[in-house]
Amino acid sequence: MTARNCILIGAPVQDGAGRLGCDMGPSAYRAAGLRETLAELGLAVEDRGNLAPAPFRNLSHPNPAIRNLAAFDAWTRALDEAAFAASGAGLPIFLGGDHSLSAGTVAGMARRARHEGREFFVLWLDSHPDFHTLETTTSGNLHGVPMAYVTGLPGFGDVLPAPAAPVRPENVCMIGIRSVDPAERRALAGTGVFVCDMRAIDENGIAVLLRRFLDRVEAVDGMIHVSLDVDFLDPAIAPGVGTTVPGGATFREAHLAMEMLHDSGRVSSLDLVELNPFLDERGRTALLMADLAASLMGRKILDRPTRSY
Ligand code: MG
Ligand code: MG
Repeated sequence: MTARNCILIGAPVQDGAGRLGCDMGPSAYRAAGLRETLAELGLAVEDRGNLAPAPFRNLSHPNPAIRNLAAFDAWTRALDEAAFAASGAGLPIFLGGDHSLSAGTVAGMARRARHEGREFFVLWLDSHPDFHTLETTTSGNLHGVPMAYVTGLPGFGDVLPAPAAPVRPENVCMIGIRSVDPAERRALAGTGVFVCDMRAIDENGIAVLLRRFLDRVEAVDGMIHVSLDVDFLDPAIAPGVGTTVPGGATFREAHLAMEMLHDSGRVSSLDLVELNPFLDERGRTALLMADLAASLMGRKILDRPTRSY
């Protein structure tokens, strides 16, 4: 894959969220000029349009809270294929769509890494760990399960195809966490997932935490899938999301993280998820997410030559 070639893939998924509207996300990113913004950086950008789900299967699960299981399965299979295929030709950017889509994109990128003999890492930028299983979810909104699915937690296998290349939990770094359900807390304990909550950011600074993760990735020549949930950001700067949680990452923290990721040269793929244009204010959240994607792909305010003064 070449980092100079970006592939935009719309994933108008809203079946995993608690309210409607995320299916308009891909259109909002296009209206926000994401393609043009990336092209200005000298990147070759190909927009492959919007993906459709795989054929629905008749599925059921004993947990009566679960909503839209067949849609989750159908999107997961389609996105797994799309991620694997696109990542052979460039760096895919998935325009969500709610966070359930990452069950497919992460699974597909994990297969890509295995195919290329690379160690695979996930950076999960979110206020939520999305670490529920089908048994533990009480809301039934399946945007709360993708990390449990891709790390191979039990309970999905009876319903969905197991991920072909499960992600090692110790290769997952979550930053921005500030809303964790008790069942997720129990499931995360002892897994080795590197969880950086907002207190950790306040005490250490986001750069220190991210550097720790990037050092680990660099030590084994790994590649990183970045999954950016709008609610990673503070609702004051990113109101266009159905799950606002106060006390999120600032504009500067988010851009710094993106710039460090770019400098690492390790990012193989990106999800932009949970944008709900129905809740946005004149596109400001879509524009911010597009700007963050541009920082991740190399946009700089200033060049920083080393000087000897
Ligand atoms: Mg999420
Ligand atoms: Mg979230």
